[in-house]
Amino acid sequence: MAIGEFRMLVAWGVIAAGYPLAALAAAPPPTDPEPPFSFERAPGRLPKTVVPSRYEIAITPNIEAKTFTGVESVALDLRASTDELVLNSLDETLTEVRFDGQPVATVASDDEQQLTTVHLAHRARTGAHRLTFTYTGKIETRPQGLFLQPYAYPDGTSGKMLSTQMESTDARRLFPCWDEPAFRAVFVLTFTVPSDWATVSNMPIARRTVHGALQTVRFDPTPKMPSYLVEFTGGELGHLSGQSGATALGVWAVRGQEATGQYALDNAAQILGDYNDYFGYPFPLPKLDSIAIPGGFSGAMENWGAITYNERHLLLPPSSTLSQQQEIYAVQAHEMAHQWNGDLVTMGWWDDLWLNESFASWMAAKETALRNPSWQWWEQADVDKESAMRADALANSPAIQQHVTDELQASNAFDPAITYDKGQSILRMLEAYLGPGPFRDGIRRYMQAHAFSNATTTDLWVALSAATGKDVGRIAGDWTGRPGFPLLHVAAACGADGARTVHVTQSRFLSAGATQGESHWAVPLQVRIGSHGEPASVLLSDAPISAGSCAEPLSLDAGAIGFYRVQYDAATLQTNTAHFGELPDGDRIALLDDEWALVLARAEPLKNYLALASGMDGDLDTRAWQQISDSLGTIEYDERGRPGHEALTAYARSVLAPAFAALGWNAKPDEAPDRQELRRTLIRDLGVWGDADVIRVARQRFDTFLKDPASLAPSDQPAILAVVAHDADATTFEQLHRLAKSTKNMSELGRFYSALAEVRDPTLADEAAPIIFSAEIPPQAFQARLQMLGALAQEHPALGWRLFSQHAHELLASQGNMEALVEAQYVPQIFWNSAPLDEIEAWVRGKVPAEMAPEMERGMAAAHRKIDEKALLIREADALTEERHAS
Ligand SMILES: [Zn+2]
Repeated sequence: MAIGEFRMLVAWGVIAAGYPLAALAAAPPPTDPEPPFSFERAPGRLPKTVVPSRYEIAITPNIEAKTFTGVESVALDLRASTDELVLNSLDETLTEVRFDGQPVATVASDDEQQLTTVHLAHRARTGAHRLTFTYTGKIETRPQGLFLQPYAYPDGTSGKMLSTQMESTDARRLFPCWDEPAFRAVFVLTFTVPSDWATVSNMPIARRTVHGALQTVRFDPTPKMPSYLVEFTGGELGHLSGQSGATALGVWAVRGQEATGQYALDNAAQILGDYNDYFGYPFPLPKLDSIAIPGGFSGAMENWGAITYNERHLLLPPSSTLSQQQEIYAVQAHEMAHQWNGDLVTMGWWDDLWLNESFASWMAAKETALRNPSWQWWEQADVDKESAMRADALANSPAIQQHVTDELQASNAFDPAITYDKGQSILRMLEAYLGPGPFRDGIRRYMQAHAFSNATTTDLWVALSAATGKDVGRIAGDWTGRPGFPLLHVAAACGADGARTVHVTQSRFLSAGATQGESHWAVPLQVRIGSHGEPASVLLSDAPISAGSCAEPLSLDAGAIGFYRVQYDAATLQTNTAHFGELPDGDRIALLDDEWALVLARAEPLKNYLALASGMDGDLDTRAWQQISDSLGTIEYDERGRPGHEALTAYARSVLAPAFAALGWNAKPDEAPDRQELRRTLIRDLGVWGDADVIRVARQRFDTFLKDPASLAPSDQPAILAVVAHDADATTFEQLHRLAKSTKNMSELGRFYSALAEVRDPTLADEAAPIIFSAEIPPQAFQARLQMLGALAQEHPALGWRLFSQHAHELLASQGNMEALVEAQYVPQIFWNSAPLDEIEAWVRGKVPAEMAPEMERGMAAAHRKIDEKALLIREADALTEERHAS
């Protein structure tokens, strides 16, 4: 699953982490290594003695009544004699239940436990049997099980369609089943829907029979797969088709929108070819469809052979921006990687969810970087790594491999920072250490060994060890099995001849200050001496490292690949700062990231970070500048409403000004896309931080744009609109609102409405607020609502919190069963500055179940941390301002 809006929610909060609770800082005891996968040993609530092998399921929806009827027949293998069957069900009523054609004794469904227990009339022998029944269920209005999605487009198209979302545990809402990932089975689906509908499922259509206004569509049997990958979509759909090798490709969308799927279709062909090669295992299904769901849910879902996407992750309307294009490619690459990691080989239980998600994220970044070199994608992925490191620097952060007691808690494992981003970073660090070729060979072995089956983390280590000849479990186990990551303390000694010897020690890094805990991580270092040359790949040991001369810069995280932080001794930091402008981009990014984190952890003074930021020396690397822009932006936010704000923004402008002067207002011919993104970042920051020239030119460009929409490229619009909106008066607000109401497609709609909510004037903010919940925003565009609320909350925290806390359930509809995780873990760190923390905590307590206390404590710890950091940054920034004035 890709988790789109979730990420955006996280981005609002500029999340930091860590909480000064020394008692929590001790490393937990090492976990016992998990055994290789075995069906019998896999965790779960359902007995492993009754095993379904094939489901035949026929469903007839009643859209008006939001119900459906079903007929189900399950082939069972009894591995022990029994008189009881236990399976999952939710909001369903079973009737005519028969076992081998004979009525059963009793049937009891418990929606609290999400179980149905069938007592047989007689004890059944081991071997093959059949369970049959009819049943009724509910069509949902949220993306859980079978759901109804209304839509309306700016071109006037409107209607309703059906689709499904099963992961983690919602297949049971569509059909009673053994709904745990180890129970792989064949699914044969039949749907009876209006005859003018197009229908898509995991497999091609086997037979279609029209009877009057209805049609009955039966799909080919799936391969053996877990229930959470079952998919059905039906509606007034159009499609584009293509081919990649033996695989038929399709892109489906609401009829009339499908033409905007050409980009996705081309991507799918490219990615599928690359993955067939990389995994050494050709995509095993005859077809792969990509389905654009208007709204419905956040992100995308990797159903085998029938991937569903929120339409904004698949369709590229005219006037889309570069970042939309990038997001589509990256999300497709993520979902398609799941066709192997997740679908062909599934984690045995939810505690190994990272095998699905970290892997898909890492593979997607690798593929996106490979095929779009001008995007500098790995540098952009540094943003994800930093977000993971901030979350993992909390004393109470979870490990990548999380204990999941029962499947009803599985949704809590979809933590974007840890399960996705930390896991992706660990895999990248491991690949760099083992070498890309041997690493790929290990993945191929893993696929071959576990195809059409399940696996555990240990199975992955075994395959990688066999391919590389290294004990990968020993190196990688602590990174996935325990929370946190190390801070490396670098102490250089200079010999009489200037030769440098480096001693490195480690302790767990916590954002509230590093602890001197036992050192236990096997750290694969990338060591670069000087500003040029290839880094050396070494595993950290107690032995001193011989590292060139003391006059040369030194990087222990060359290329910013490592999931650790480095604190250099004062002399080495000084040398690195003096040579900062000439370092390779990745080394520079790592230094900026680490120094900023050390400032927030009170381990380095702010002026050390600012010395780096001011030392870019004409270099225009996009990620490095964005890191600087984000850090200055954090201080600017904290200083708002305080006497130090004006001096701080003037200083921040002076840091960015040389880069903007070098770039100029207009893109040069053949300028790389990421450099153009940098220009947009600088325009936005300089304008919002009060640069009068930037505000004036932005205003001119906006006025021209209103008369001639072609005068401003779509990708350039958000920055210009942001600057204009921040300074808007009533007339400008009206102009922006008219612009929003005149949008021609969903891409413009998101962009223009979001700008409307960036107004700084409180009266205008009050006018923007009701628009978020009005019918001006189409039913499927929940993302635009969230974007508006996020923009409003940035400038008007109290108003943002009031709106969010009153409308959370409506605003988070797309989160499905992850809503509680968002509320518990993310709401406190998003709204930390919007209301007293005890008010926020009380609100969260009232929303989420008691067993989510650990998630809530993480959220609250991060919020407390933000408040501490705010005090620290204000103190340090004000002191530096005084110093500057005094000198
Ligand atoms: Zn995923």
